[in-house]
Amino acid sequence: MRFLTVSFLALLAASPALSQTDEPGAEWRAMAQEELDARLNVERREGRARNVILFIADGMNMSSVTAGRIYDGQDRGEGGEENRLSFEAMDASALIRTYTANAQVPDSAATASAMNTGVKIDIRAINVYQGSDASVCAHGLYPVTLMEQAEARNMETGIVTTARLTHATPAAVFAHIPHRNWESDSDMPVEAVESGCVDIARQLIEVEAGDGIDLAFGGGRGNFLPESENGRRSDGRDLTAEWVARGGAYVSNAVELRSLDSDKNLLGLFADSHMSYDADRNDIEEPSLAEMTSIAIDRLSSNPDGYYLMVEAARVDHAHHATNAYRALDDIQAFSEAIATALSMVDLDETLVIVTADHGHVFTMAGYQPRNNPILGLVQTPNASGEMDPTIAADGQSYTTLGYYTGQNPRRADSDEITSDAALHPDYRQQSAVAMGSETHSGEDVPLYASGPWAHLFGGTLEQHTIYHVMVHALGWTRDEDVSGETPSD
Ligand SMILES: [Zn+2]
Repeated sequence: MRFLTVSFLALLAASPALSQTDEPGAEWRAMAQEELDARLNVERREGRARNVILFIADGMNMSSVTAGRIYDGQDRGEGGEENRLSFEAMDASALIRTYTANAQVPDSAATASAMNTGVKIDIRAINVYQGSDASVCAHGLYPVTLMEQAEARNMETGIVTTARLTHATPAAVFAHIPHRNWESDSDMPVEAVESGCVDIARQLIEVEAGDGIDLAFGGGRGNFLPESENGRRSDGRDLTAEWVARGGAYVSNAVELRSLDSDKNLLGLFADSHMSYDADRNDIEEPSLAEMTSIAIDRLSSNPDGYYLMVEAARVDHAHHATNAYRALDDIQAFSEAIATALSMVDLDETLVIVTADHGHVFTMAGYQPRNNPILGLVQTPNASGEMDPTIAADGQSYTTLGYYTGQNPRRADSDEITSDAALHPDYRQQSAVAMGSETHSGEDVPLYASGPWAHLFGGTLEQHTIYHVMVHALGWTRDEDVSGETPSD
């Protein structure tokens, strides 16, 4: 570092007529020096992690991060490219391979299961070994989850998501079930019921490990209520009432959540199905991801034995499936705010914070547009008089910076002309090359970012299920004699 500083000063001395800011390239050298200093100051933490927070933005591929940071910067009136999302300043990063035991391109069920149990399993299954069918429910030989082990060690456990709490990613924290679609009893095939399989909503309130899940915030109220109360359950059970009967507290909107004064296990169901995209959210009904994260950390950190919290920005995935880049990027902004909130609340000497995606999407950024071009707009270049002209593709049409390989707005020879106004409309669906009713996931590696104890174990390219093993190592469980549930002695 000293050598570089001296060299830089020597360079300045060689051009005495120029001040530091006039020196060609000075701003880039200063920016790089700042980043180099930050890297040189990264602390290696090797103490035991008391707490682990796993942040997952569902479907956040690498282009989602790049476009998301530009969107976030431009939203504040900046150029965008040099902006950093909160998690981009974290200490470690890695690339994560997302294939499942039987699928080249994965889904959220198998990928979230890999992170929660440390083994790869089949696509669409949740926390059951590969090759399992409904008969697995009869014998119940399942990979144990991080939550179950944390509960057995008297730790607190929590889930925050903007999806239905019964949806694949949150379900992978607590459920064992051969098919992700079995969210309520009305979704269960007869043979599954006959094998003893229990729907995902019931599994949430019936967790047997420790004192059960301490906190669960999300949507999906319909899967917890009987048809007679506008729910989807055909067994007539009101699982919210059962949760309360088991000693928990229940809230159904943001106002109730904010005024709650109770330290009981807390279930918050803020929407009948998925919660809203942050862009469409009503703050009376639904708390933001950052607010839910803040309340969760506040409540869970009261236990000196620590906590495991999974936080999911679920709807990045849904917006991508609809090829609506605006809502995907806006939810990544909300995700970044939730992580900033968490980082401001925790002590990184005792809390491992991991940020990643479960899988990618076929979403990318194209063109040779100049810096600061609106990220949601058309690819354009300055003409001879300095005005911006849309760049015309070989088919004679303009195109947007953001686009998809598959999706429901395929580009054709007779596609409507994309005007700048059309592209910038919040409901615009970016074009795709291949026509599909719903845009598909991608099989590419996803990024991971981490800070806190043992974060430096993340690096290079890792298998997704290794994330679980790093969490277990950071928690110190691999160094305990009994990993089945004894509380560590140190
Ligand atoms: Zn998806």
